[in-house]
Parts: sequence; structure tokens; C-alpha cells
Amino acid sequence: MTASNAVTPKERGHRKTVFSGIQPSGIVHIGNYVGAIRNWAGMLDDHDCTFCVVDLHAMTVPYEPHEMRQRIVDTFTLNMAAGLDPERCCLFVQSHVSEVAELCWILMTCASMGDLSRMTQFKDKSDKLKGQVSAGLFTYPVLMAADILLYRAEVVPVGEDQTQHLEFAREVTRRFNSTFGETFAEPGPLFSDVPRLMGLQNKDKMSKSLNNYISLLDEPEQIWAKLKTAATDPARVRRRDPGTPEICNIFTMHKAFSPPEDIEWSAQGCRSAEIGCIDCKRCVTDNMAAELAPISEEYHELAAAPDRVRQLMERGAETARARARRTLDEVRQRVGLR
Ligand code: SF4
Repeated sequence: MTASNAVTPKERGHRKTVFSGIQPSGIVHIGNYVGAIRNWAGMLDDHDCTFCVVDLHAMTVPYEPHEMRQRIVDTFTLNMAAGLDPERCCLFVQSHVSEVAELCWILMTCASMGDLSRMTQFKDKSDKLKGQVSAGLFTYPVLMAADILLYRAEVVPVGEDQTQHLEFAREVTRRFNSTFGETFAEPGPLFSDVPRLMGLQNKDKMSKSLNNYISLLDEPEQIWAKLKTAATDPARVRRRDPGTPEICNIFTMHKAFSPPEDIEWSAQGCRSAEIGCIDCKRCVTDNMAAELAPISEEYHELAAAPDRVRQLMERGAETARARARRTLDEVRQRVGLR
């Protein structure tokens, strides 16, 4: 866009500020892509977007430090390759802006132990970790509230599993405002109707730890090898058995990656048993591979230029830091530290 035809902020109207974060797992799978990144990329034109690789959150469960360094870089690079253009949003790494730790501490004094102990994600994770539960895991939602408020997010894209954390952040906001004076707008949820992909066995969420995922960097043969054995509607034992596409994860993948005519073809063919699951999986493999190929290409180009990635990371952190400092200056005044 040239300077002469650029849309001014006034013409564009108010663009809501959005914040969201992604864990540095090092692998970005199609569940992350469809449920979060592709959705966020669609907001870049009409929202003021801040997205963050939440490495401090990732420290709340046991991890290997030498792996973490690489996972942060890989996740940052994959997010850019998958559509989070750093020219159109603020993309950075959470720990590069240390102001978040100070705001987290201040908010900790407004957070209720009772509210924190009711967080279902804490209960689930602490059950799995048994004796290794840290205070960081318990106070994780306060850090999330600090992220949201530090960048003054008006809306936060949330999936079903994060609504409780967002409600907690809203409660902390209300407590802060009522104790220290109106400072923050209450962040609202931004729901989307994107298809929710399950893992390949159609039992759990797609996740790296359960090894039930398709990576954004999988080659077409790898996608096919994984989908060939993936779970479908169990009623389709033989090819002539009709199925119910709505309960099949492969059909959800069609809704995420296929054009309308292929979605219709798979739904009709499944119900009437005119197509087999292998035909259906082949079609979705081709569509998925076609969408992922340019992402993979862009990722490999960026990964071959680590200095450029570091520069973009630093630039994102500078932008985020400037915003964070403005917020924290006001907060310090409000709470009596300045
Ligand atoms: Fe699933 Fe497609 Fe098989 Fe139907 S035909 S059960 S939608 S894979």
C-alpha cells in the first residue's frame, strides 16, 4: 500500500486491542494453527494485535533448559511463517519484556487464593505432576492476567479451556480497579467458530506430548502416513456401512482445510457409503498439504536466516516493552510505589 492510498487510523475507526499467547512447544501442530494462529492472522487487518510466545508460562511444568532455548526460537519462527506478519502485529517473546513479572507481582496482591484453587487446569496439571507442583503453576492465571492487562487488551481470543482463566483475569481487573481506582478496561472474550481438531485417535486434544498430531512442517507423505491410520466413525467397519461425518475427526479436518465442494462430497459420500474412508482421507491430505506447503517453505527460509529472526524478535520486544512501560508507570502511581 502506498502512502497516498493508506487508510488513516480515523478512517479505519477504533481497532480493538487483542492479546494472545502460544506456548513454546517447538512443534506447532495443525490444532494450534486452525484453532489459534490462522484465526489470529485473520484479525491483523481490523485489530491492534499483540501475540506472544509465552516462555514464562512454559516454566511452570518441568522442562529441559537447553531445549527451551530452541523451542522459543522455533515457535516464534513458525508463528511468523504461519501468518503472524511482524509488520502487521507485535510478535514477541514474553520473557523479553521483564515488566510483566512486576505487574504479575502487583496483581498477585489482588488475586484470591480461593479463586486460584478452583482453576480446573491447575487441578488437571497438578494431578498429572503429582509431587512436582510448583507455586508458579498455581499462580499461572495471575501471570496470564498480567499479560492481558500490561498490553491493555480489550479482547482475548479464547477456546473452551481458557474461559475460566479469562474470567479470573476479569475478576483481578475488577479488584484492582476497585482498590486503586479505575485503571484497566475489563478484557472480554473473543469466541470463534473455527473447527476444533482432535488428536489422530479422536480421543484427546491434539498435542505434542501425546504424539497424536500433524505438524505444520510435515511433508505430504508424513501427513498421509498419519491420516491413513487415524480414527474415523467406528460405525464404518466395511466400505458399504454408512457413516456420520459430524462425529468424525477427518470430517472436521475437511471443514478446516477443504473447499466447500470437497466438504459436501465427503459428507454426502460418507452418509450414503458412496466413498470409503481412504478416499476421504486422501482428499483431505491433498488439501491440507497444499495449505501447509507455503508455510513450511517460509519457515525453512526464515530458519536459514537466524540473525534476521533475532532482529525481528528484538524489534517485537522493543514495541511491547514501550507499551508495557507506559502501563507500568501508571500502575506504580496507582498503587503508591511512585
Ligand atoms: Fe470419516 Fe470420511 Fe470415513 Fe466418513 S468417509 S467416517 S467422514 S473418514
